[in-house]
Amino acid sequence: MSNATTELVQQLIRNECVNDGTIESGHETRNANTIASALEQSKLDFEFFEEIPGRASIVSRITGSDSEAPKLLLQGHTDVVPALALDWDFDPFGGEIIDGYVTGRGAVDMFNITAAMAIAMINISNSGFKPKGDIIFAGLADEEAGGNYGARYLVENHYDLVQANYVLSESGGTHMVNNDKTFLPVVIGEKGVHWVKIEIEGTPSHGSKPYGADNSNIKAVELIQRFIDFKPPIQFIQGWETFLGALGINKELVTKLNSQESVDQALLEIDQPLDSVLHSCCHHTFSPNVIHGGVKVNTIADHTYIELDIRTLPGTTCEQLASMINEVLGNYSDQVRISYLQNEESTISPTSTPLWDSLQAVSSSIFPGAHLLPTISTFGTDSRYWRYKGAIAYGAALFDPTDVNYQDHLAMFHGRNEKVSIKSLAHTTDLYEGVIRSLQDFT
Ligand SMILES: [Zn+2]
Repeated sequence: MSNATTELVQQLIRNECVNDGTIESGHETRNANTIASALEQSKLDFEFFEEIPGRASIVSRITGSDSEAPKLLLQGHTDVVPALALDWDFDPFGGEIIDGYVTGRGAVDMFNITAAMAIAMINISNSGFKPKGDIIFAGLADEEAGGNYGARYLVENHYDLVQANYVLSESGGTHMVNNDKTFLPVVIGEKGVHWVKIEIEGTPSHGSKPYGADNSNIKAVELIQRFIDFKPPIQFIQGWETFLGALGINKELVTKLNSQESVDQALLEIDQPLDSVLHSCCHHTFSPNVIHGGVKVNTIADHTYIELDIRTLPGTTCEQLASMINEVLGNYSDQVRISYLQNEESTISPTSTPLWDSLQAVSSSIFPGAHLLPTISTFGTDSRYWRYKGAIAYGAALFDPTDVNYQDHLAMFHGRNEKVSIKSLAHTTDLYEGVIRSLQDFT
């Protein structure tokens, strides 16, 4: 069965569905067509949803025996971010197999999962297995630019077709070892994404007399410094200590990283890029990425704006973030104008669920003794659209222990030289098939 997943990943890579954020990019209909040809062979029905020409998402369904039973959605995106061929050791859109790995843009973000889901649907359909609740597959366009033409469009306009109680998507599943025990990360939540624009006014006057002037640039710099100095409470997710140990961090450092008092000091002892990953997993982050102000060198600036990329930890609401921003602004509160370029709340799913139990049972049937480990994603994924609707959504896959480790796997997301082993593709396909078959036993 692994061959079918491998071949599908290769074709999806070669279709070059590159989403650069413009409406004209993506061309995900190419990948929807490729998946459709695979589904057709096993007589699975499917439907295209193409809000924007060329940007189709594809949805397929295996109808269960009980329309009241919980439904499971397997959703994966079909677009990728750009890749510069010069930077890579192989052709990013060649889909070549090199030393047992499928290589190319999308190999881990996230055609390994999207393809394994489609093939799991096909295998289940061919086997004649009848699930109790509906099993839905969605290959989604535009995830890499926020999902507006894919997940968001479907959830807002055709929710009846993609409604599910349980959802699987990216990423997770690389082997992590702590004290001889194997842990498999499962993404249970993701940080909120809040892009905030703050406009600051000043009073224009001659640049030759700056003393006492009302300069909007100076106020903006002061505000940015306040955001840098702002220290809202640190939060650790469930299983944080185990997660740290499974990264190969020594015990003494794990103890320091597991304390709100010493974590910031301990992060100085961690190398890049792991330090920034760990930092983002336990801090709200405020990154002032745009500053624009003033019009002329001899004129005191009277208008400046800054744009902050704010990422909040799971459990934080938009209201809570707004009050944090107000706290930072302090005396500037009534002198600035705030607008949100994006304001999407963090999401998290509990682990005491039938889907978790099913994933655990199937994973440990393939890798005896392996334990699921909850993690969060520092970036946004399409799963949030279903969590907002109340669904339980996890990022779950299953890699081979010989495949790359957690850190190297993370570095491939939007990075160079993406690759996934053929063995991992087989395990991930088996995982989804196993969950489709066993979920009903845990509900
Ligand atoms: Zn992705």
